[in-house]
Amino acid sequence: EPMIARLEQAGKTYPSGDALITALQPTDFSISAGELVLIIGPSGSGKTTLLSLLGCVIYPSSGKVWVNGTYTNDLNDRQMAELRLRNIGFVFQNFNLLAPLTAEQNVMMPLQLMGLSDHESRLRARAALEKLQMGHRLKSLPRSLSGGEQQRVSIARALVTNPSLLLCDEPTAALDAKSVGIVMEELRQLASEQKAVIVVTHDARLRPYASRVIEVENGQAREAQVSDFKHNIY
Ligand code: ADP
Ligand code: MG
Repeated sequence: EPMIARLEQAGKTYPSGDALITALQPTDFSISAGELVLIIGPSGSGKTTLLSLLGCVIYPSSGKVWVNGTYTNDLNDRQMAELRLRNIGFVFQNFNLLAPLTAEQNVMMPLQLMGLSDHESRLRARAALEKLQMGHRLKSLPRSLSGGEQQRVSIARALVTNPSLLLCDEPTAALDAKSVGIVMEELRQLASEQKAVIVVTHDARLRPYASRVIEVENGQAREAQVSDFKHNIY
C-alpha cells in the first residue's frame, strides 16, 4: 500500500521559562493507505502533539515529516495550509461545527475554501453527508443534532475534499456508547477504502477497531504488540 505519512525522529519541545518542556520525544512512525491506527495514552502524554505533527499543524523541533511524499519541514505557513487543505481531514472531540450554518453548509465550507463553485460544493457535500447516513438532515443546524449525528457531519466535512489522511483527536469522547460504535465503524470503513486513518484516544475500548496501536506515555511513543489486544476484529 502507498505510504501516506512518515515521521523520522520527529520531536517537539516547547520553551517554558528557562527550561524546555518535551511534548514528544524523537519518534519514528509511518502509516499507509488502508490502515486505522489508534494512538492511545493518558492525558498530557503527547498524543495531540504527535497528531499535530502528522497534520502539519505544528513544525517539529527536531526530525523530519513527510505527508503524501512532500517533505514538510521547509514549507512556509501558507504552503502548510495548502497541504492540509488538499491532503488531510480533521475530526475533533467537540465537533467544531459552525453553529449558524446548516449541516450541508458546514460540509461545503472546505470545498468553497478550495475555490469550487457553490453548485459543485453542494453536490459533493450532499454525497458526503449521504455516505455518513446524514442525507436526511442537510438543512439541520448543529444544535438540533445529537452528539453522534454532529460527529458524522464533522466526518463528512473532513472527507468531502477526498483527503488521503484522516486525523481524529478524541472523536468519541463526547459520545454515548451506541454512537461510539457507529462512528468507529464509519472510520474503519474509510480505512478499508484506502484512506489512512489515525484516531487519538484515551479510551482502551476503541482498540478492537484498530489495525495497529501506538501507545504514548510521557512523550514516548511505542508500537503495541498484537498480543496486547486479542480481540482485534481485523
Ligand atoms: P495529550 O494530547 O496526550 O493530552 P499533548 O500532546 O496535548 O498531550 O501535550 C503533551 C505535553 O506537552 C503536555 O505536558 C502539554 O502541557 C505540553 N504542551 C502541549 N502543547 C503545548 C504548548 N503549545 N505549549 C507548551 N506546552 C505544551
Ligand atoms: Mg490531546
